[in-house]
Amino acid sequence: MAEVHKAQKVVVVGAGPVGALAALYAANRGDDVHVYELRADLRDPSTTPLNFTKSINLALSERGINSMRQSQSVGLLEEVLKETIPMHARMIHGRRKGGELFQESQAYDANGRYIQAVDRASLNKRLLEALEKLPNVTLHFNHKLTGADFDRKTAWFEQHNNAKKTDHAQNPTQNDALWDDQKRATEISVNFDLIIGADGAHSATRYHMMKFARLDYQQEYIDTLWCEFHIAPRSPDSSFAIDPNHLHIWPGGSFMFIAIPSLDKSFTCTLFAPASHFSSVSENPEQKLVKFFHQNFPGVCPELISTSDLQKQFRENPHLPLISIKCKPYHYKSSVVILGDAAHAMVPFYGQGMNAGLEDVRVLFDILDKHGIYDAGTSDHRSRNEAREAALDEYTSQRAPDAAAINDLALRNYEEMRSGVQSPLYKMRKWMEETVNVYFPSLGWRTQYTRVSFENQRYSEVEKAVHRQGRILMGVVGLSLVGIGGLTAFGGVRRDYWKNLGTTWLSQVEK
Ligand code: FAD
Repeated sequence: MAEVHKAQKVVVVGAGPVGALAALYAANRGDDVHVYELRADLRDPSTTPLNFTKSINLALSERGINSMRQSQSVGLLEEVLKETIPMHARMIHGRRKGGELFQESQAYDANGRYIQAVDRASLNKRLLEALEKLPNVTLHFNHKLTGADFDRKTAWFEQHNNAKKTDHAQNPTQNDALWDDQKRATEISVNFDLIIGADGAHSATRYHMMKFARLDYQQEYIDTLWCEFHIAPRSPDSSFAIDPNHLHIWPGGSFMFIAIPSLDKSFTCTLFAPASHFSSVSENPEQKLVKFFHQNFPGVCPELISTSDLQKQFRENPHLPLISIKCKPYHYKSSVVILGDAAHAMVPFYGQGMNAGLEDVRVLFDILDKHGIYDAGTSDHRSRNEAREAALDEYTSQRAPDAAAINDLALRNYEEMRSGVQSPLYKMRKWMEETVNVYFPSLGWRTQYTRVSFENQRYSEVEKAVHRQGRILMGVVGLSLVGIGGLTAFGGVRRDYWKNLGTTWLSQVEK
């Protein structure tokens, strides 16, 4: 723990994955940390409110893993990884022209790296358990941020009694606001040195920050809804119904169905489709739903989900929107910073929303450390405030372009997942980039997916590097088309010759 004379009081709003990790980083640096969470403690089964707005399973990858690795919480990452399932590849499902079903495995990475399926609640629980071990952390559940004065460094929370959310759980259409009204609340005021707002896409911290900072804000609901389904373990042996080490995709052109494995050998599936498809199917699910699945997602119903289960799940599980949010700056003076979905909610098609949020935490604390916030010499109130303001300025400048880049990449990846993965052009580019990666590693070529999911390169730099690779590949393809015909005509060409030629040419173009 760094040497500090007086602990800063850090208030974290939201105990989701990002807020909980941010609280751990602050606590491990000696801050006096208070976490305020709207909902009840998700580890308590009697009061746990079901969260109807979040998917159950997530893909965890390098950025999230690295952020937990660097949290200074011994054993945390190991505990989390124990409860994950490796997904080495995409499994593309489809039907050939003759009607025969096929599956095609597409490895995620030329060097065998993989993403991990993780249960959102287990991950969150492991983080809360790690927090609870620290003496300088206080968790306040059932507390809702309702206001903040970021100049006076005071925030207000409604403290709710432990009202059971049973009725709400049975009636997911009843919204949180209504549920909140039914509970008696008392308001408390809280002083702080720094607030970290990690209260999700509809962030109250961001809303109140807008009254102080000149915050540019942009949000978009894409024309896609999602609904969760469930593939039960196969009976009678309770094994996985399909290969567990894949993220399964049924690309359907303008829609898509995916399945992610769970530790109990079931799969959590998500249907993504335009809102009009949902309305059209909802008009008569008994007739339209199975037909829709049969036409677009072959092999799902009745093979993996029975007709009655499919209809029941479509009827009972909510049909939810997808929001993409960009804003800037992420902070106001030295008193508040927003992280995770609160700063940059994105569509889920790169599996990066939570990973990027966890990476926010690592980047923020690297910058706070760099500005000496935790050095003994910066412990007096004034110099620490100045250093923190400079650090938060730098955080916004560095992170906003990165978050904007992954936001855009995630939007574009929808196209790739629902149809691109089957296109010959996509497959050719993937093959070429991976071949260059394997045979000419010194050139540093990697696919976009590898850079995003298995590395910690800044997202904005990933975007630039991939763009540059794309331009070079276009040149290579053009030259190859002309050259291959000619060289083949002149007879065999030695592999060494190709290798030298390739290395020289590509390094010239990279410059
Ligand atoms: P949240 O998880 O939203 O947590 C915010 C917390 O703040 C909540 O606990 C909430 O109760 C609390 N809160 C809200 N308001 C207040 C208030 N006023 N006062 C106090 N507390 C408050 N990401 C990935 O990395 N990989 C994936 O595979 C992936 N798949 C996804 C699939 C779908 C269908 C969706 C919708 C998202 C997916 N994501 C994925 C994105 C991921 O779910 C989010 O990016 C992640 O949950 C954001 O974490 P967070 O902690 O910032 O916010």
